[in-house]
Amino acid sequence: MQIRVDADRLRADFDALASFGGTPEGGIRRTTFSAAHLDARAWFLDRARAAGLEASVDSAANHSAILPSRVPGAKTLLLGSHLDSVREAGRYDGALGVLCALEVVRAVQDAKLALPVALEAIDFTDEEGTLVGTLGSWALAGQLTAEHLDAPRGGRDLLVAEFERMGLTERGILAAGRDPTTLVGLLELHIEQGPVLERASVEIGIVTAISGSSSFHVQFEGEARHAGTTPMDARRDASLGAAAFVLGVRETTTRLFPGCVATVGDIAIEPGSFNVVPRGARLLMECRSPDAAELSTLEAALGDLARREAAAFGLGVTVERVGRWEPTPTDPRFRTALFDAATALGLSAMEVPSGAGHDAQAVAPITPIGMVFVPSVGGVSHDPSEYTSWEDCVNGANVLLGATVRLAQALSS
Ligand SMILES: [Zn+2]
Repeated sequence: MQIRVDADRLRADFDALASFGGTPEGGIRRTTFSAAHLDARAWFLDRARAAGLEASVDSAANHSAILPSRVPGAKTLLLGSHLDSVREAGRYDGALGVLCALEVVRAVQDAKLALPVALEAIDFTDEEGTLVGTLGSWALAGQLTAEHLDAPRGGRDLLVAEFERMGLTERGILAAGRDPTTLVGLLELHIEQGPVLERASVEIGIVTAISGSSSFHVQFEGEARHAGTTPMDARRDASLGAAAFVLGVRETTTRLFPGCVATVGDIAIEPGSFNVVPRGARLLMECRSPDAAELSTLEAALGDLARREAAAFGLGVTVERVGRWEPTPTDPRFRTALFDAATALGLSAMEVPSGAGHDAQAVAPITPIGMVFVPSVGGVSHDPSEYTSWEDCVNGANVLLGATVRLAQALSS
C-alpha cells in the first residue's frame, strides 16, 4: 500500500513555524535559544502531543516526537533536522526537514501501519553554530567532547551563560549519547542549498556522501620596500603570490578535480598601505570533496600550487592545516530505499554529494544515515530569499515517507 503525507497539514505547519522569528524580508531569525527558537521548539512538542505522539527532550535539549512500535524491544529510526537558524535565514533550511519528519510520523500513525521500529522525529539542538554547531547531533552520537565545549564557535562565555539560562549542564550534554544498538539509522530531508537539482530539472536528490573539508592558513612572505623607489624588477611582493594563488586554486580545482570545490575566503595584506610593497599575505583557504582520498590529493595539489607561485615571485610560503572533516558516505541501503520511494512516486531522482555539513554527518559514526534533498531555487540558502516550490517540498516529504516504510521493514529484520 502506498500512503501519502497530508500536504495541507504539512503546509499549515510550515506557515505556522515560519511565524516564529519571521522577518519583514520573509525570512526568519531563530538563532539557538533565542525567544523565537524556544517558541518554535515548544510549538513542535505541542504539535507532537496534539497528534498523540510522545514528546520528549533529552539532556542535550534535542526535541523529539516519538511513535513507539508495538514490537517489544523495537529499535528506533530517527528522522529529523534542526529548527535553529543563522541570523538572516530563510524558512526552509532545517525547518522543512523537521516538519517533514513529523508529518511522516503522523502519516504512518494515521494509516495505522504497524512498523517493526519506533519512529522519532527529532529537532537537533544548535545545528547552525550559534554556540557550537551540530551540538545536539554530536551529543546524541556521543561524539561531543569537553574540548568542543571549552573552545566553542560562539565563544566560551556565551556558551556558559546560555547553558545556565536554559538549565543545561555540560555533564548532561556530554551524557546525551544514545546506545547505538537501540538505533537503526537516521534519515534527514534537507533543501539542497545548491543549484545542481534545479539545473538538471530533477525533483529528488539522493545524497551519496556529505563532503569532507580541509581548511588552511597560507602565508606568503616577501619584503616590505618603498613603493616609489623600489623598481618593479627588484621587488618580492607577497600580494603577487597571493593573487596568482587565488586564480590558480580556481584553475587547478576546475580542471583536475571536477567533483570538488576550493575557496580562498579571505586575504590579509601586510602592512597594507598605499606606499609600501607588501611584505606578507595571509590567506584562508578551504577545499571540499565527497571522497577522502580525493580530498587528500586536492590538498596536496593546492599545497604544491602555493609553493610554485611563491617560487615564481621569489617569495617564501607556509601552508598550515587548520582542520579537516572527513567525508561521510551515506548508507547504500538508505540510498536504495530513497531511490525506490522516488521511483514508486514517479519522481525523477539523481545522486548528488552534499557540499554542506548536516546533523546526519554528526550522527554517522554510530548509526547508518541517509539524506534526501529537494531543489533550492537559484541554489540560494542562508538568506531570506531561500525558496523551494511547495510541490517539491511535498514530493520530498512523500519520498521520506516511502523510504521510512521501506527501511523500517528492511532494517528490523
Ligand atoms: Zn540545515
